[in-house]
Amino acid sequence: MHISGMEKTDKRIQFFRAQLALWHDTQNFRSFPWKQEKDPYKIWLSEIILQQTRSEQGLPYYLKFTEAYPTVTHLADAEDESVFRLWQGLGYYNRCKNLLFTARVIRDTYGGIFPRDHDTILQLKGIGSYTAAAIASFAYNAPHAVLDGNVFRVLARYEDIDTPIDTTEGKKTFTALADRFLNRAQPALYNQAIMDLGATVCTPQKPDCGHCCLQKQCRAYLNKTQALLPVKSKKIQIRHRTFLFFVCRYGDRVYIRKREAGDIWHNLHEFYRIEAEEAEGFRRFRSLFDPYLKSDVLQVADIQQKLTHQHIRSLFYEAELNAVPDFLDSALFVPLEKLKKIAFPKTIISFLDNKYYF
Ligand code: SF4
Repeated sequence: MHISGMEKTDKRIQFFRAQLALWHDTQNFRSFPWKQEKDPYKIWLSEIILQQTRSEQGLPYYLKFTEAYPTVTHLADAEDESVFRLWQGLGYYNRCKNLLFTARVIRDTYGGIFPRDHDTILQLKGIGSYTAAAIASFAYNAPHAVLDGNVFRVLARYEDIDTPIDTTEGKKTFTALADRFLNRAQPALYNQAIMDLGATVCTPQKPDCGHCCLQKQCRAYLNKTQALLPVKSKKIQIRHRTFLFFVCRYGDRVYIRKREAGDIWHNLHEFYRIEAEEAEGFRRFRSLFDPYLKSDVLQVADIQQKLTHQHIRSLFYEAELNAVPDFLDSALFVPLEKLKKIAFPKTIISFLDNKYYF
């Protein structure tokens, strides 16, 4: 009997959906509190926390946030500084800024009720197509396919597609593919299952094809191309930066300023900072601060942090001052015991934790 191309494709998709559902029912034991969650606010919160963060690392943050702010209105009413403090350590602070902004829009425009409609959700600041699909499908079982790194990988391998996923063509191809594969009878379950399969079985390195429910029909497995997929066209350009942080103390106070827009860690605080190569930065500090130094300036820590696009080396120095320099605002010298209440980037928290302030 002749089987047409379309029927064959449909069989492949049917196999995919059925195997995925069976695997999810019987073997997917990945458990996190946001799974099976139906409250769109909590789903949104978990999705924003988990962007660029592993689930295990995001879990304590999710628990802290849902405890401190059980509803979107609680979050909207919170003070910026308290929310930033809770976010501390997660990085990518724009996510936190957008979270607050959108919570306030939901309170002020939608009466504190999270919108139901997918296109309305997509209009909210900080919510892209992936997050909108996740909220619409998990909270309301609406038929929208999620497309995150895990889904790209599973689909690229199952179909053996080498179109780069970070190109316009790739995004179009995979969006259409994700939509075709979506099981419209069970969108929430299907979306959860495909993401979990990508996270636990069809992993970026060493996918566990031997135990994969899709193996029989997986084209990458049959063609031995798993390790080559998915394809990305661009290599991330890493920017290397050196920050010299000077902990300038005057009596029991220390100089702290807020970081400005246009760079990482916007809205968080920092010590007096010079960005330069080590020797040059130190020379610049001495030329400015020499008349105000009470004793030697000592380097006390050297911390590396790797962000997606930047590798940052932070050198910390302690400097005791005999007066407030006239080019610094004396109001920005805060008592040491107040440091615990201030939101800092992760690198400075590590320094404070390891040193002696906390
Ligand atoms: S068989 Fe291997 S490559 Fe194919 S979907 Fe399963 S884990 Fe991924």
